[in-house]
Amino acid sequence: MTQTYEELKDRLATIHDLHMARAILGWDQHTKMPPGGSEVRAEQLGTLDKFSHELFIDDEIGRLLDELRDYEESAGRDSDEASLIRVARRDYEKAKRVPPELRAEMTRAGANALPAWIEAREKSDFSIFLPYLKTNLELIHRYVDCFDGMSYESEYDVLLDDFDEGLTANEVRTVFDELKRELVPLIVRIGENADRVDDSSLRRSDFPIEKQRAFSLEVLERLGFDHEKWRLDPTVHPFAMSAGIKDIRLTTRYDETDLGVSLFASIHEFGHGFYEAGVDPAYERTPLASVTSMSLHESQSRMWENLVGRALPTWRFFFPKLQAAFPGQFGEVELETFYGAINKVAPSLIRVEADEATYNMHIILRFELEQEMLSGDLSLEDLPEAWNSRMAEYLGVEVPDDTHGVLQDIHWSGGAIGYFPTYSLGNVVSVQLWDKARGELPDLDAQFEQGEFGELSGWLRENLHRHGRKYTSKEMLERITGGGMDPGPYIQYLKSKLGEIYGLPVPAGVPA
Ligand code: ZN
Repeated sequence: MTQTYEELKDRLATIHDLHMARAILGWDQHTKMPPGGSEVRAEQLGTLDKFSHELFIDDEIGRLLDELRDYEESAGRDSDEASLIRVARRDYEKAKRVPPELRAEMTRAGANALPAWIEAREKSDFSIFLPYLKTNLELIHRYVDCFDGMSYESEYDVLLDDFDEGLTANEVRTVFDELKRELVPLIVRIGENADRVDDSSLRRSDFPIEKQRAFSLEVLERLGFDHEKWRLDPTVHPFAMSAGIKDIRLTTRYDETDLGVSLFASIHEFGHGFYEAGVDPAYERTPLASVTSMSLHESQSRMWENLVGRALPTWRFFFPKLQAAFPGQFGEVELETFYGAINKVAPSLIRVEADEATYNMHIILRFELEQEMLSGDLSLEDLPEAWNSRMAEYLGVEVPDDTHGVLQDIHWSGGAIGYFPTYSLGNVVSVQLWDKARGELPDLDAQFEQGEFGELSGWLRENLHRHGRKYTSKEMLERITGGGMDPGPYIQYLKSKLGEIYGLPVPAGVPA
């Protein structure tokens, strides 16, 4: 039986290698490739995806998985062997339904849409992107149809399941309804005290990109960025990927007029990279060499970005270094003013730059639009207008052009529909994990003030990262917190932290 298991592992390792080679081509496409390479790159990516898909849905893999049922059972559910077989079987059963040619077509369409999306952004003209988005949506419909007869409640659930196994639109809606109910009045009350926070120190016209990069790296190195295993490169839309547990690639975006853009994007992507770097090295080249789900992935990026990266103790350590790096810009600024500035709440146009409270409204808007696009209730021609009117309704902001509206995110160009909810679920989960970590590690604030983040890192590694893709989100949350997803702690955290900054009454039962 071990021989059958090794044979399966060998086959899966080959497929994993192809996935990683594909990931490098994707990284290169977003960071280094001259625009002229777009068309042929789309073919290369499509070929690799088709090839690895064909290898994976081979009947021989199905036979090995069948043969291994007894071995899986005897190994025990939590064992690496049973987990690998279980995860591979689930992937196999889904992949088997999708024709390799469709897989390749989706990849090619996404790659071809990328330069169109970039051009549409530059010209602020949605019509340039529209035909590509139409193609992506048609292909998504064909993809969803592959899962006819399975137990999904809705088409959207098929897509959610790819990012977070078993997650349903109904579950997302329940969480989002509560966020909406609690956060909309909080945002209004903060707006009434808006003058308590001054963020002018962050928004100047003199933040040279090289100095921003150097300072971001100084912060990341303290958090755990290791030049032997990590890179940081500029891109249009920040992302993180890994081509191996010891090959972590972060990207960020610089704005010479706003220090916060690259700094917090870098810390956010660090959180993703740190998760992938923490997976048990024994899982390398297996389907377990990944993460629990995209919601858990976002819980890590949002935790480092917000719970660590926008916390006062953290900046007690980093602020003098920031002042040394930018003496003309921050030499005269008080730490408390800076802390207020990086936590300023104000409805704005761009999701990735949004504050912690309004951020979720950006996600709720996308969640609603995606479901309407998929059901056909909203035609793609009307998407910019729907976007703009909902931005006015939810956040009270006027969208001046498509670049600052419907074209701002890269996801739809790559055909990723159903991804956005994971950001807000990540916010929710980040505080559930944070509360648990703080309960077990009471000195975190004192450590952060000294620039020490190792105890938190170690806790995250031990409880979450090392497990890779072994468990689902629900299983992982249950293991760590003893319960399911709960937006309560996140809402309390926002009310407490932002209430203090904006001089609002802090809710009962929350330590100030
Ligand atoms: Zn992220």
